[in-house]
Amino acid sequence: MLRRALLAASASTRLRQLITTAPQTRAIVEKYVAGETADDAVRVTRTLRAAGLLVTLDYLGEDTKDPAQAAAATDEYIQLAGKLGAEGLTQGGAAEVSVKPTAVGLFLGTRMAQENIGRICAAAREAGTTVTLDAEEFAAIEPTLRIAAQLRAEYGDLGCVVQACLRRSEDDCRALAAYGTRVRLCKGAYSEPESVAFTSRRDIDRSYARCLRALMNGSGYPMLATHDPRLIRIAAARAGLAERDSGSFEYQMLYGIRPAEQARLAASGAQVRVYVPYGSDWYGYLVRRLAERPANLMFFLRALSSRR
Ligand SMILES: Cc1cc2nc3c(=O)[nH]c(=O)nc-3n(C[C@H](O)[C@H](O)[C@H](O)COP(=O)(O)OP(=O)(O)OC[C@H]3O[C@@H](n4cnc5c(N)ncnc54)[C@H](O)[C@@H]3O)c2cc1C
Repeated sequence: MLRRALLAASASTRLRQLITTAPQTRAIVEKYVAGETADDAVRVTRTLRAAGLLVTLDYLGEDTKDPAQAAAATDEYIQLAGKLGAEGLTQGGAAEVSVKPTAVGLFLGTRMAQENIGRICAAAREAGTTVTLDAEEFAAIEPTLRIAAQLRAEYGDLGCVVQACLRRSEDDCRALAAYGTRVRLCKGAYSEPESVAFTSRRDIDRSYARCLRALMNGSGYPMLATHDPRLIRIAAARAGLAERDSGSFEYQMLYGIRPAEQARLAASGAQVRVYVPYGSDWYGYLVRRLAERPANLMFFLRALSSRR
């Protein structure tokens, strides 16, 4: 309930103003966001790589209403891929990029988004790495999967994301797994109606386990994005049953969340990728992180109320 209420309230201009201008916000943003520039992102990537972790980088921004802004976000990714490649951080896809289709123009037209994503895929390939398309609100899911399917004819390693909270996702996982696709499985960070989504934690977790099974039993490359200890245990068990070796799938977690667990899994021989966002447009990302965890939200509210 709290999560849904916060996600709904986040559209309010007053709440946005309050959160983005509060001095206490900075420390919380720094916990989850690598910094404002590509150089900040590369610096954090270097540190994570040195610790044996894989990385995927997200240039913050979403729901772009302006073609010039969509083009600028695309150029930022192209430059980032070049920087990562020049530093030797992309070898074997060790550092890749995650792109939100609405940041590069999805809601301005699928053709524009596909062209922009295609340019990012070309730059990533040139740099020796891959692209994963994030999953966003429900209206973006079908066009995103369609773009991914079309671009995959040229860029077979283009990954996509499935949100376990959606009722359609088990079918999507089966179809994607049959094609050998790189698929990130997450619970889903957006608030969606009952008509298209499971809304209770229990139903979402059960759907995650079913999707996980479909991906592990398929011929693709599952990327299991969760901090949930129970689902991580289920993933390990499923990998064993499917006789997958540790190089045939990976765990993914967000920068700043459960870093000790990230290190523990990597030390156990698993592949672990950290999703690292950077940039100045962090509001939507921060609200989703606060909404996921009441403890984070309470900490944030206490910090806000003690500012006088
Ligand atoms: C790598 C990655 C990529 C993602 N990409 C997408 C995407 O493309 N589209 C999308 O909709 N969603 C995406 N998500 C977000 C995802 O959908 C969930 O909203 C988010 O991961 C929280 O769900 P959870 O599986 O970690 O489980 P939860 O049930 O939220 O948490 C399980 C446990 O993890 C720990 N934990 C979780 N969140 C926090 C936190 N903020 N701070 C501290 N501890 C925490 C706690 O111990 C908690 O009990 C992504 C998540 C990850 C990890």
